[in-house]
Amino acid sequence: MNHFDFIVIGGGIAGASVAWELQRSGSTLLLEREPLPGHHTTGRSAAFLVDSYAGPVVGKLTRAGRSFFETPPEGFTEAPLVTPNAVLWIGRDDQRESLEKALRTGREAGAGMEPVTLAEARKLCPVLREEYVAGAIVEPSALHIDVAGLLESFLRAFRRLGGRVETKSGVERLERKGDSWEVDAGGRMLRARVIVNAAGAWCDEVGRLAGARSIGLRPLRRTAITFDGPPGVDTRTWPLVMDADEDFYFKPEGAQLLASPCDETPSPPCDASPDDYDVALAADAVQRATTLEIRHIRNRWAGLRSFVADRSPVIGMEPECEGFFWLAGQGGFGIMTSPAAARAAAGLIVNGVLPDDLSKTGLTAEMLSPARLRRG
Ligand SMILES: Cc1cc2nc3c(=O)[nH]c(=O)nc-3n(C[C@H](O)[C@H](O)[C@H](O)COP(=O)(O)OP(=O)(O)OC[C@H]3O[C@@H](n4cnc5c(N)ncnc54)[C@H](O)[C@@H]3O)c2cc1C
Repeated sequence: MNHFDFIVIGGGIAGASVAWELQRSGSTLLLEREPLPGHHTTGRSAAFLVDSYAGPVVGKLTRAGRSFFETPPEGFTEAPLVTPNAVLWIGRDDQRESLEKALRTGREAGAGMEPVTLAEARKLCPVLREEYVAGAIVEPSALHIDVAGLLESFLRAFRRLGGRVETKSGVERLERKGDSWEVDAGGRMLRARVIVNAAGAWCDEVGRLAGARSIGLRPLRRTAITFDGPPGVDTRTWPLVMDADEDFYFKPEGAQLLASPCDETPSPPCDASPDDYDVALAADAVQRATTLEIRHIRNRWAGLRSFVADRSPVIGMEPECEGFFWLAGQGGFGIMTSPAAARAAAGLIVNGVLPDDLSKTGLTAEMLSPARLRRG
């Protein structure tokens, strides 16, 4: 039987990033059920980093990891991981309050956001309908992330340090034996001191295998479509245009455009696929706000964004299950938070505390811990 210090379950961005961090402190094995890492939510994102997104805990993690994206460690990647791509928040006349709230909460979270005139907004995205948009805010610091490049770089760096990745290796049984865990991955028996549960939408299922109580994880399906922009127009410089109430967004996706109706349909953990109704909603929302005509949808997909009750990530040791660590609930921010979340996880696993620079942002282990979800 193979023994490891750490076994990470799940080969999405959460598992790949934490495996790389952990391999520096001990032998680490990454187990992924699918033939390829990144098959589920990680391969289906909109690839954005937005400082103002998803509240104070997520904002602290996002900003703490920003420098990793902008100046990755020596040798981590050949190509840039991010390119600047502003966010333009727009609102109709009846959404003025929502726009003000977005500006206030964004600024409180430390994001550089500025109101712009309609003329300025239309300069950034010329297809916005004059009669639709009553107000707009620009967040120039947002970034587009090369998600495939980021995932591949984490895995390559992990392997270079001696880490092992095994695909087609779904974990089916976990049993605490003495001071370590016995893991059954498709009939192969393995052992590790610590299990890291980075199984995305399946985190509660993997928790159950270990005998841990549920963290109340809810996988919510979100749909995306791609389509052509107007003929002869280079849309690659357009911002991500976000509705003030987060009811839809659209953004450049290579030479095409990507849109989402920001749906959140509860789903069991599964290989999510898009619903025709949500696809139609995405196209309709874009056509109401812009002069774009979507005649042909090039691609459509859906992924599961998984949240716990307070919508902050769960990064911490299970208090009732020795050596079982949660890296779960990455919702709609798992890519942008991945460098800082992985460092937080590795710090807590190896040293029992958050790394100093993360503590200095005001983050505490309690804010991230699964114990916060069990109170009351
Ligand atoms: C439409 C959409 C847009 C998004 N846009 C953004 C964005 O702009 N920016 C951003 O930061 N985030 C975004 N997200 C969210 C982001 O994609 C997720 O937060 C992130 O990918 C979650 O990564 P993960 O590693 O936790 O999960 P996953 O990528 O799902 O990885 C979990 C892995 O665990 C494996 N697994 C499960 N059970 C087992 C088992 N028993 N044994 C072995 N392996 C197992 C699964 O096969 C899977 O590969 C978006 C998501 C969607 C759907």
